[in-house]
Amino acid sequence: MRWDNLRLTAAGQDDPAVPLFARGAVTRTFDTPEFRGMTFYEIRAKSIINRVPGASRVPFEYTINPYRGCSHSCIYCFARKTHEYLDLDAGADFDSKIVVKVNAAELARGELAAPRWGGHHVAMGTNVDCYQRAEGRYKLMRGILAALRDAANPFSILTKGTLILRDLDLLTEAADVTDVSASVSVGFTDPGLWRAVEPGTPDPRRRLETCATLNDNGIACGVLMAPILPYLTDSPAQLERTVKEIAAAGATHLAPIVLHLRPGAREWWLGWLSREHPRLVPRYLELYGRGAYAPKAYQQRITAQVEELAARHGVGRATPAMSRRVPPRPAPAAPQPEQLRLL
Ligand code: SF4
Repeated sequence: MRWDNLRLTAAGQDDPAVPLFARGAVTRTFDTPEFRGMTFYEIRAKSIINRVPGASRVPFEYTINPYRGCSHSCIYCFARKTHEYLDLDAGADFDSKIVVKVNAAELARGELAAPRWGGHHVAMGTNVDCYQRAEGRYKLMRGILAALRDAANPFSILTKGTLILRDLDLLTEAADVTDVSASVSVGFTDPGLWRAVEPGTPDPRRRLETCATLNDNGIACGVLMAPILPYLTDSPAQLERTVKEIAAAGATHLAPIVLHLRPGAREWWLGWLSREHPRLVPRYLELYGRGAYAPKAYQQRITAQVEELAARHGVGRATPAMSRRVPPRPAPAAPQPEQLRLL
C-alpha cells in the first residue's frame, strides 16, 4: 500500500487526549485533499462477522463492518450515536475520525472457513458505508469479497458509494457461485439538497448509474429510497421525480423510508435545520416531538404514494441483464425504518 504524504503516530497508552479504544492503535492522517482533516485509527479487530442481537428484528442475522464512522457525513445518519461508544462525538468526529479494521479480510477468510460457521447470508453496509472514501485507500472490501467468493457464501451490500464498481470483477465472480445482491441508497436527487445534507457522498445520479451498471452486469441491485425528508423532498412532484429516475436506472426494487431521528442524529439534524431552514423547525418538532419516528399516518401516506409511483413507472420490471448460474434464493425482506441506518 502506498501512502502519500502520510503522518503516522502510534497512539500513546497513557495520553488522556487519545480515545480509549485507540491506545496502541496506529493513527494516520494524510495531506491529500481527499483526506484532509481526517484521522484514521487502524486497529486489529478480534472478530469480523457479527451476529445481530435477536431483539433488533433486522432481516439479516450476520453482518461485516470493516469501518466505524463515515466520511459520507450525512447529517441525518443514525449510526452517529455509535461513535459515542468509542469515546468520540456523534457530530464532526463521526465524519472525520474513522476506525479501520485492517485485518478484516484475513478474519473474514478464517471465520468463513471455521467448521462452526453455517454459511449464512452476510449483510454489509448495514452500520456505516463499507464503500466510503477510506475504502479507496485500504481496499478491505476486496479481501472480504474474495473470501466470500471462495467460500461461496451468500451476501448483500447496501451503499451510497460508487466505489463498489471497482469490485465488479469480484462481485460477478461471487455471483457465479452464490447469491449476491446490492442496494444503493438514494432518497432524492435534488443537487442543492444533496450537497447540503450528504456532503461527503457521490452525486445521487452517479449512485443510480452505479445501480444500472450493477444490473447490466448481472448483480441484482435495488434502491433504498431513504431518507425521504419531510417538507424538503416529500411533495408529490419531488417524489415522482425521484421515483422516475430510480425506474430509469433499472432498479430491481425500491423501498421507501421516511427520515427517522434517533438521539445523535436528532441533535445534528435539528442543528442543521435551524441554521438552514429555521421555519421548518416547529413543523419537525410537531412530527418528531414524541420520538424518533414520524407519525404512522404520515409514513403510510408517503409509502403508499411511492409504491403507486413505483408501479406506474415500472420499477422492478427490468431484470438484471445477465442471468447468473446460481438461481436466486429468497432475498432478505425489505428493510424497515427501525432496522437500518439511512444509507
Ligand atoms: S447514512 Fe450511510 S453513507 Fe451516510 S454517513 Fe451514515 S453510514 Fe455513511
